[in-house]
Amino acid sequence: MVGLDDGDTEHQAGHATRRRRDCPRTHPEPLWYAGLPRSPPAPRRHPFQALPLARIAFIVTTCHEFEGVKVLSSVLRLHGHQTDCFITSEEKDFRRAVLGWRPDVVAVYATTGQELWAHDHIRAWKSELRHLKTVFGGPHPSHDLQLLYDDDVVDATTKAEAEYAMLDLVEAWEAGRPIVDIPNVATMVDGGPRQNPIRPVIGDLDSLPFPDVDVFYKYPFLRDKRVMQVHASRGCQNSCTYCSVGLMKKTWISGKRGEKFNRTKSVDYLCEEMNDILARYPGFRMVNFGDAALNMESGWVHEFSEKWPARVGLPFACNVNINHLDEDDIIALKRAGCVSVQFGLESGSEEVRLKVYKKGYTDEIVYGIPKLLKKHKLTFRTNNIMGSPAEDLDDMIETVRANKRIKPNGCTVLIYRPFKSTVLGLEDYKMDRVDLGKDIGPSIQSDSMMKRDDLREVVNLQKLFNVAVYLPGG
Ligand code: SF4
Repeated sequence: MVGLDDGDTEHQAGHATRRRRDCPRTHPEPLWYAGLPRSPPAPRRHPFQALPLARIAFIVTTCHEFEGVKVLSSVLRLHGHQTDCFITSEEKDFRRAVLGWRPDVVAVYATTGQELWAHDHIRAWKSELRHLKTVFGGPHPSHDLQLLYDDDVVDATTKAEAEYAMLDLVEAWEAGRPIVDIPNVATMVDGGPRQNPIRPVIGDLDSLPFPDVDVFYKYPFLRDKRVMQVHASRGCQNSCTYCSVGLMKKTWISGKRGEKFNRTKSVDYLCEEMNDILARYPGFRMVNFGDAALNMESGWVHEFSEKWPARVGLPFACNVNINHLDEDDIIALKRAGCVSVQFGLESGSEEVRLKVYKKGYTDEIVYGIPKLLKKHKLTFRTNNIMGSPAEDLDDMIETVRANKRIKPNGCTVLIYRPFKSTVLGLEDYKMDRVDLGKDIGPSIQSDSMMKRDDLREVVNLQKLFNVAVYLPGG
């Protein structure tokens, strides 16, 4: 793996061996208490074999650093396994690259629309690597087990947070043990899919090793882009009906007493993580926080504003939930080095935002917060949805008007997609609002799967949205 030399390998492999024996899988102790390395070590070698324990290839079709893949990889590596990630667009011959690495397990992250793209590749790999196992995780397989019927391709799926489910799964496969009872895992049992109950979420994010950025930064495109993608938290204060988070909060927790879906890394951990990455990849000039909202905990933002400039000092952009943002938070973000925030406006109609999307953004918030952001010289961008079942063309034009009024520095405009991992998406399928025979590919900016008479206008408005917002008289 990139970034680890032989000296590190021996030293860290020893720690990894001790860690594996002690690991309770559900609530591992914070690594710094155990004196263990934060960066994922190179693979441990099995005492009786010349090879690492298992080789896990993550495959993704979007050229993006996925936080989930980074953390899964670091946990697997900490336990002695070897990991890599392959991005379709970054490989000259993707199929050959994965095959040449000779994985034991291929892991696929899938949202709705991304659950089938790898099937032909996997069939080809399985014909060459007879022992190969495959596991699908992420929002789609967490809510839809249909994939398991493709049993020539899919051996198992995972639901919810998969760090320790993946580890248990890989180690069961490696040892030839049955996988049917592993928490979070679903498999085919007696001809039908069976989802096992899930384990409690990882309560303390500081207990995890630092995310393994090496699997992505081996690619020059991601390494040289100067903007690092980082996450400080899991969860979100809001539960919007068009977003997976709403259902995750209900179905991605075990129900254990005191379990919390919204969690934030400590500021100390985050600064340490950043400096660990920067020591190996000093070219980054800015950070983009990919969290649902960096302002998930008000007190956290204030501590962050004290420590981040002194310990890391990189400017950053982040998402914010404007219904939980006040002027003090904006001042703290500015002091910390924030240069730009992004929030989901989604609809110009207050009724749609409040009653259908359950977003909690009143008109007062939507028109008030941008004034405060401008007052404190923070640029901002909005996210917007075109073509949801809640809106007609007039509502969508109202979204253009709302953006014209608050004057964001940029607008991202997506075409609504009925994800099966969302409350609204499930309703769409139930109410027969989805054109099931239409394949629109993985992009959410090109076309719509919804059955509606004004489809052409929706797609055109998405393309012309920014012209309408920014051209005088548009
Ligand atoms: S605020 Fe964003 S991340 Fe949170 S539930 Fe709504 S859409 Fe999802």
